[in-house]
Amino acid sequence: MNSDSQTAPHVMRNICVLGSTGSIGVNTLNVVRQYPDLFSIKALTAHSQVNLLVEQCAEFHPELVVVGSAAAAQELEKLLINKQLKTQVLYGPSALVTAATLESVNTVMAAIVGAAGLLPTIEAANTGKRILLANKEALVMSGDIFMKAIAKSGAELLPIDSEHNAIYQCLPDANTSNAGARGAYTQLGVKEVLLTASGGPFRTTALSELALVTPDQACAHPNWVMGRKISVDSATMMNKGLELIEAYYLFGLAAKHIQVLIHPQSVIHSMVRYVDGSVIAQLGQPDMKTPIAYGLAWPHRIDAGVKELDFMSLKGLSFEEVDEGRFPCIGLAYDALAAGGLMPTALNAANEVAVQAFLDGQLKFTDIAFLVEKSLDRAQLANLEKADSLEMVLQADIESRQIAQRILKDF
Ligand code: NAD
Ligand code: MG
Repeated sequence: MNSDSQTAPHVMRNICVLGSTGSIGVNTLNVVRQYPDLFSIKALTAHSQVNLLVEQCAEFHPELVVVGSAAAAQELEKLLINKQLKTQVLYGPSALVTAATLESVNTVMAAIVGAAGLLPTIEAANTGKRILLANKEALVMSGDIFMKAIAKSGAELLPIDSEHNAIYQCLPDANTSNAGARGAYTQLGVKEVLLTASGGPFRTTALSELALVTPDQACAHPNWVMGRKISVDSATMMNKGLELIEAYYLFGLAAKHIQVLIHPQSVIHSMVRYVDGSVIAQLGQPDMKTPIAYGLAWPHRIDAGVKELDFMSLKGLSFEEVDEGRFPCIGLAYDALAAGGLMPTALNAANEVAVQAFLDGQLKFTDIAFLVEKSLDRAQLANLEKADSLEMVLQADIESRQIAQRILKDF
């Protein structure tokens, strides 16, 4: 969060997209495509969607492309040769770090889903790149360590999650370098931030029917088109729990200064309430190209290719309190944050296991929260008070997954 660049002319953004075949990755390329003079793609990564990756290489000509396995790399190399493309191909977790820390890259879109995105994102932070953070799980897992890496290297961190991007836009002096230091915004008159949530596809579903909902129903979000993991998180509202923790670290606010509010229309993307009675909100279409373009062009603004918000066609904006009986994951996230240390890491790990099991048909929707709760009860017995190093974070992630897997076997 560097103030010098506010008055600087547009700097060429040389970009690595981590997770280029996903919903955020594809939307990032949709924005990049419109501005060849401002943005250049240097590296792309994806887990297994080789065919889409080849198309992306043919269009954007990156230096390096990374996939998840040797088999995928072999297949990709063949397809690239067929198209006479000279992109270098690497695979595996350490190659993700290579892509994110390339000398030629100054901007990293962190859009891998889940814990797999942590290492390349934190190494990009260590090497002072501009980080466009969509991969909230990385920050939830490693909170203080991640923020210290940003502060130490002087990297710019721009939130892409729509709520945090909205809050970033509504905060005072968001561009001053220590604005995100713990408590700094409170001193600047911020009373609280209001994270809005749509409530997902099951906001009004009869509670008795929730146990029977299918993965496809859970992934059919009423307002946003997203990857399957975050879609399930939105349906359980664990997404808002992860976002609460994300806001805690990004903006240095106490948990009591972060409120969650259901706003089913997803027009207000989040708000900041000030001590003088003002509330500043950011509004827009539910289209991730807006926060992506904001992060890419910051501190300037560019046309994101998003339809204008038409106030005359809005049928009204409504708000509701969160029903924690319906959405127990929110309470679990508040508890993990209050417990501190590595409990947010354990929460994220257990949730990733539970969501995958639900998507694989091994777990009922209503058992996601139950599995996370049981896993956290057991994790509490482990030594999770301190998160002093990245190694401890990675170890806690592994152990918490093992705990959740063992509990899953009893379902
Ligand atoms: P997605 O499932 O559509 O895409 C995920 C990407 O990560 C894909 O490119 C995939 O190849 C890659 N990937 C998956 N597992 C991997 C692994 N083990 N190693 C390397 N790469 C791997 O997900 P998405 O909806 O684009 O979300 C990406 C991230 O952005 C998530 O953390 C999500 O919470 C966050 N986010 C998404 C949205 C949205 O609108 N989609 C909004 C806010 C935040
Ligand atoms: Mg969000």
